[in-house]
Amino acid sequence: MKSNSDLHRRRQAAVPRGVANSLGVYADRASNAELWDVEGRRYIDFASGIAVVNTGHVHARVKAAIAEQLEKLTHTCFQVTPYESYVALAERLNEIAPGATPKKTIFLTTGAEAIENAIKIARYHTKRSAVIAFSGGFHGRTLACMSLTGKVQPYKAGFGPMLPEIHHVPFPMSYHDISVEDSLEALGQLFKADVDPARVAAIIIEPVLGEGGFYVAPTELLRKLRALCDQHGIVLIIDEIQTGFARTGRMFAVEHSGIEPDLMTVAKSVAGGVPLSAVIGKADIMDAPAPGGLGGTFAGSPLACVAGLAVLDIIREEQLLNRATHIGHFMTSRLKGLQVRFPCIGEVRNLGAMVAIELVRNCRADAPDPELTRALVQAAGQKGLILLSCGIYANVIRFLAPLTIPDALLKEGFHLFEEALQEVAGTTAKAVAAHG
Ligand code: PMP
Repeated sequence: MKSNSDLHRRRQAAVPRGVANSLGVYADRASNAELWDVEGRRYIDFASGIAVVNTGHVHARVKAAIAEQLEKLTHTCFQVTPYESYVALAERLNEIAPGATPKKTIFLTTGAEAIENAIKIARYHTKRSAVIAFSGGFHGRTLACMSLTGKVQPYKAGFGPMLPEIHHVPFPMSYHDISVEDSLEALGQLFKADVDPARVAAIIIEPVLGEGGFYVAPTELLRKLRALCDQHGIVLIIDEIQTGFARTGRMFAVEHSGIEPDLMTVAKSVAGGVPLSAVIGKADIMDAPAPGGLGGTFAGSPLACVAGLAVLDIIREEQLLNRATHIGHFMTSRLKGLQVRFPCIGEVRNLGAMVAIELVRNCRADAPDPELTRALVQAAGQKGLILLSCGIYANVIRFLAPLTIPDALLKEGFHLFEEALQEVAGTTAKAVAAHG
């Protein structure tokens, strides 16, 4: 039998350290919300491979769709010999994308590639070059995407120079006293001091910061951005890569605000674990670039497109929008209960099943506790629960269980989390209790 420690030694020698691993556990197989490592140990998965398997690991329908496609063909390159599944998935995404304006969809392979293409399309359409993004936002690791990402360590430091004409404004975070007014004020200042709005091609925003720490963009901000973009002819790009496909209780998180994006980027859970991403947008904007300007060899692979079609069926038939809301309620009510006992839980926040806690010292928002956060991820791993951290201060635990997780596993996973929390933060909790 292979061991985690042997594999880890081999990995250290063969794979660069820049690709970080939070647990030294090597996956062998997985099913729905459970995963087994190479030593046969079982884990409950509260990470979903970073919000990729919203429909669970190896869902039978996704598996059957891929298996059927494998018997036919795996690759032609859509630009060389197109195939129906690409067109059919584009049609379905155009139909469900928010807003009444007719839509078109292009497929790519990774989230970063979708972002790169959205920026290219916005630039071509507007004949402008500047882009505004948000501090704390994450849009990927390629050169353009890391330039848009609003966090220097570890994403940007040492990798410069960044793309020119990228500007950042603060993302509202009520827990850190950054209001919607603060963000809009900074945007106003930017237009006054640094960049003419008539030079701005796009504003890009995540409806809930993903890697940045699960802060929810208030509806008021998204509506104001929509109005500003309309006023100045700027393309509004909503990055739904982490928030999409039923995760927040709606198909796309932006639906909570009622606005229509000009372009929307999706990836991660779109194809239930097969690499696929897309830009879905208003047809006239999407049609701006000339033939040959967009595409990619593997972009919208037949295996991924049939998986994507299966994912849409699963979300509808298994009512995963409701499931996401249910999971969100369960997790937040339990976490708020724990917050009373554990003062290190500074804030519990969520949008549907995108749930997070922020860990701090002395109940202070300005005293992040990244050490405790790291320790909690490790302790949970030891107990058989896969957890993920995130956050601009590396002090947020995010809960991203598959939306198909049965209630019994959800409860079992939460129980493991409670045990891990008790283990790493129990002493502080007792001390607080002793002081009344
Ligand atoms: N945007 C967001 C909001 C993301 O969460 C991510 C990945 N965490 C990306 C873009 C980049 O996606 P990928 O890693 O597939 O390139």
